[in-house]
Amino acid sequence: MTSSDPIDTLLSAHGLRRTSAARLVLGWLLAHPDTSYTHAQLQLALAGDDAQELDRVTLYRLIDRLTQVGLLLCRVDSNRVRRYQAMPVSVHAAPHFECQSCHRDRSLAGALQASAGDLDKAAQTALETLKALGYQGLSMDFAVRGVCVECATGSTDAAP
Ligand SMILES: [Zn+2]
Repeated sequence: MTSSDPIDTLLSAHGLRRTSAARLVLGWLLAHPDTSYTHAQLQLALAGDDAQELDRVTLYRLIDRLTQVGLLLCRVDSNRVRRYQAMPVSVHAAPHFECQSCHRDRSLAGALQASAGDLDKAAQTALETLKALGYQGLSMDFAVRGVCVECATGSTDAAP
């Protein structure tokens, strides 16, 4: 591997070993920046990725480590299941919606359109203020909870 590989660079910059497992997990999440995965979903996704098989313990430990150093964003969904995704680089508050009925979690950037920009600006200001006060390793999460349009109108059979 060359030292100019962006994933290797990220791992090194965060004091992590550049193992093939770390490359695999971080690479996958960076390639799917808009999707959040549970441990199980991630293991399933990576298993289909013809690379060597990752055992559960290694994967869990790796995810914890990547989250600790701020490379992954961890959220707990409405089922109290932890979901992970690559830390958004440019968007400090990735607004998302958690449906209390079908438990789907989706980005709100499209639905909010112009106000998503305002949210991001407000988030950026808040983060800069905190940084100036000496806070470190900041990230922000913006979640809206409720019932999605499909569930509210009963337009899919996914609704209970
Ligand atoms: Zn729903």
